[in-house]
Amino acid sequence: MTYRVQKGFVYLVGAGPGDPGLLSIKAKSILEQADVVIYDNLVNQKVLNWLKPEARSIFVGKSSGQHSIPQAEINALLIEEAQNDVSIVRLKGGDPLVFGRAGEEVDALDSEGIHYEIVPGITAAIACAAYAGIQISQRDISSSIIFLTGHENPEKTSLNLDFKEFAKSNSTLCIYMGIGQLKRIVGELLEGGLKQDTPVAIVENGTYVKQRSCFSTLGQIIPDSEAMEIKSPAIVFVGNVVKSRSQYNWFEEKPLFGKKILVPRPRKQAGELSQLLENYGADVLEVPFIEIEEDYDRDSITNVFTDIASYEWIVFTSANGVDLFFDLLDKAYEDVRSIGLSQIATVGKATARAVRSHKLKVSLIPETANSNALAEALIEHQTLDNVKILLVTGDKNSDILFKRLQDEGRAIVDRLPLYKNVRTDLSKNENFERFKEEGADLVLFTSSSTVHNYISATQSLELSDSIKPKFGSIGVKTSESLRKHNLPVAFESPKANLENFVVETLSYFRNPNQ
Ligand code: SAH
Repeated sequence: MTYRVQKGFVYLVGAGPGDPGLLSIKAKSILEQADVVIYDNLVNQKVLNWLKPEARSIFVGKSSGQHSIPQAEINALLIEEAQNDVSIVRLKGGDPLVFGRAGEEVDALDSEGIHYEIVPGITAAIACAAYAGIQISQRDISSSIIFLTGHENPEKTSLNLDFKEFAKSNSTLCIYMGIGQLKRIVGELLEGGLKQDTPVAIVENGTYVKQRSCFSTLGQIIPDSEAMEIKSPAIVFVGNVVKSRSQYNWFEEKPLFGKKILVPRPRKQAGELSQLLENYGADVLEVPFIEIEEDYDRDSITNVFTDIASYEWIVFTSANGVDLFFDLLDKAYEDVRSIGLSQIATVGKATARAVRSHKLKVSLIPETANSNALAEALIEHQTLDNVKILLVTGDKNSDILFKRLQDEGRAIVDRLPLYKNVRTDLSKNENFERFKEEGADLVLFTSSSTVHNYISATQSLELSDSIKPKFGSIGVKTSESLRKHNLPVAFESPKANLENFVVETLSYFRNPNQ
C-alpha cells in the first residue's frame, strides 16, 4: 500500500521504539517519498536508509556534548521548510504525541495555517513490555495501564509528578524518562504504600539488539539497576504483571542476540546476509569497504550486443553483473528475447537468483561457488570446442575462468566487464567508527575479495585483545585467503551459500571453542 504525500505538508510520524520493523506501512511509505526529514535522538537512523537519495535529513536531537535544539527553533524550522513547498516529515521516536512534544509543533503549524497529518507510532512502553516478555495487562492482576513521565526533560520546564498518588492504583505503571529520578520515584511509591517486594523491571534500549532488562523489586531496584549501569532511554515498569514475565524471554534469548557481527560487503549485497543475521538478534555492522561502480566500454557493449544471440552460453560471476547486464540489454533492445537461445550459467546461487528475477532459467550452477568449479562444470557439461561464450564480469576475478574456458575448453570467450570495485570513503561511516571503538565478535567473509578489502582497511587498526573479532569464512577459497594473511579461520561453511553460512554461524556461537 502506498500513500501519496503532498508538498507543503508536514507529516508528524512515529518512528516506533527502535526496531525498524515496527514502523507502520504508512510511516515507511511517507518516508520513502519525503523531501525533508527532521528527526531526533530516539529515531533509529537505519530507517533513514529508506529515504530517496536526494532527500535531506536534518538532525535536531541532542548529540554528545551538545545541548538539544530548543523547541521554538524546531517549530521555526518546520514552518520555514513547509513554506518551501516540499513534503516534510517530522520523525519522532515512539509515538509523536506520547511525551514527544509534538503537541507544541502541531500548535505552531496550526498558527501558520500549515497542513499536517499525524501518523501514530508504537510507543516505547508497549514495545518494551512486549520485547521483555512483560504482559502489560492481565485480567486477574492489572486491568489498567498508566503512562507516566519522570520528567527529566532537558529544558526542565514541566512540573514533577507526585508518584505517591499512583501507588494505590493497582495498575501497571509505565514510567518514561525515569532513570535520572529513580530514587525519588521509588521513594514516593514506597511512601504512597507500595510494598518493598512489588515487582519492578527496567527495560533499556528496548527493541534494539542492545536491549537490556533488569528485573527486581521496588526495594532492590536502585542497587540492581546501578549494578547493571542502566541508563536512559529506559522504561520503568512497576506492578504485579512484571512478575508474570514469560519463561521464554523471546527477544533477549535469540541465538545471536547482541552479538556484534561485521559484514564487510558492498551495501547492495550485504542486505540479505544482514537480514538473516538480524532475524537471529545479531547486532550487524555493515561496512562496505568497497562499492560497486558501473564501468564499461560502450563500444564493447555495442559489439557484444549486436551479436548477442550468437553466444551459446552467457556466464555470470556476480549478481551485480546480472543486474547491470539486463539493464543495458533493456536499454538497447527493450526485449529480453534478444539473447536468443543462449543458455545461462552462474557461479553460485545468489547470482542465479538474480537471473531468475529476470524470469530466465539458469542451466548450470556448480556445486561449489567459485570460478574453478564453474569452469570445470561447464567443461564437463559439454565439449566447448569453438563454442561461443560470453563472460559477464566485474574488473576482477575473471582471469581463471577466462583462461580455463579458453585454454582447456577451447571455447571462444568474450569478456564483458561491466563494473569495478572502488574503495569506499569510510571516514564518515558510523559502523566503521563503532568497529574501531568497540571491535566485534565476528567478521563474516563471503569471498576472497572481502578478505582483501577488510585487510587493507583495517591493517593499521590496533584493537585490544578483548575486542578483537574472530573470522568466519563462507568456503574453501575464502579460508585460503584468510590463512594467507595469517588470519585464523574460526569456522568455515561446508557449503558456500548464505543460508549455510548463517547456520554455521549459529553453531559457532553455540560452541565457540570447537
Ligand atoms: N514519544 C516517545 C517517548 C519520548 S520520551 C514514545 O512514544 O516512545 C523519551 C523516553 O521514552 C525515554 O527517556 C525513555 O523513557 C522512553 N524510550 C524511548 N525509546 C525507548 C527505548 N527504545 N527503550 C526504552 N525506553 C525508550
